[in-house]
Amino acid sequence: MARRTIVAGNWKLHGTAPEARRLIMALKHRLVGFSTRAEVVVCPPFPSLETAVDAARGSAVKIGAQNVFWEADGAYTGEVSTEMLEAIGVDHVIIGHSERRHVFGETDAGVSKKLRRVLSGTLVPIVCVGEVLSEREAGKTSDVVARQVAAALEGVGPEHAARIVVAYEPVWAIGTGRTATPEMANEVHALIRQRIADMLGQTSAGTVRILYGGSVKPENAADLMSQSDVDGVLVGGASLDAGSFAEIVRSAP
Ligand code: PEP
Repeated sequence: MARRTIVAGNWKLHGTAPEARRLIMALKHRLVGFSTRAEVVVCPPFPSLETAVDAARGSAVKIGAQNVFWEADGAYTGEVSTEMLEAIGVDHVIIGHSERRHVFGETDAGVSKKLRRVLSGTLVPIVCVGEVLSEREAGKTSDVVARQVAAALEGVGPEHAARIVVAYEPVWAIGTGRTATPEMANEVHALIRQRIADMLGQTSAGTVRILYGGSVKPENAADLMSQSDVDGVLVGGASLDAGSFAEIVRSAP
């Protein structure tokens, strides 16, 4: 069965709850009468999640969080659990975004704990991996990405494969306007799928969705999503504009 495309927007640290409501209303307006097979997800900051769930109700738009912790509760000031997200109607969660890894020091081991925690509940995890520019220039892309994938999936069983989403986001392409070509992206996606197959088996690996992220815009989204191993996109900057994000949704196969 063909994998269902995902178009996900990562709003990062942008917007208050009223602004989130306005943006979702504008997105819904742009998508009126348009039916898509793609899963459409937006990921606002934590304080806007409940408002976003409410604003998206009755539409095809799902809500995701940008981070989550690996414990259910306890003395972990500032953290948020999977249960808290599930309880307010959040569906998806981004794990290990490069900004979490590089600005906040998240490690492969932490990403792995988060993924296992999420899989014990109902959220759909979007696990981010990707190399920095110096690693690409040193020809280390495959090693870095394979290591990140292997570490994230440590201890995960094949029964979870169909729920797992991996986002390949070359760090040099995030917010820079530089995009990997569709062929470059597909090559790394195929490698990621192979690494998953080594761990979970070929059949399970075929059900994992692998998104591309890094300066995705309405102009390049269709070409990226036409690649055999690109199952959708994770969009940063362009997801903050309802018109641009709706256009990307419209270009999803
Ligand atoms: C992102 O934040 O995941 C991202 C891909 O950002 P941008 O689209 O702005 O490069």
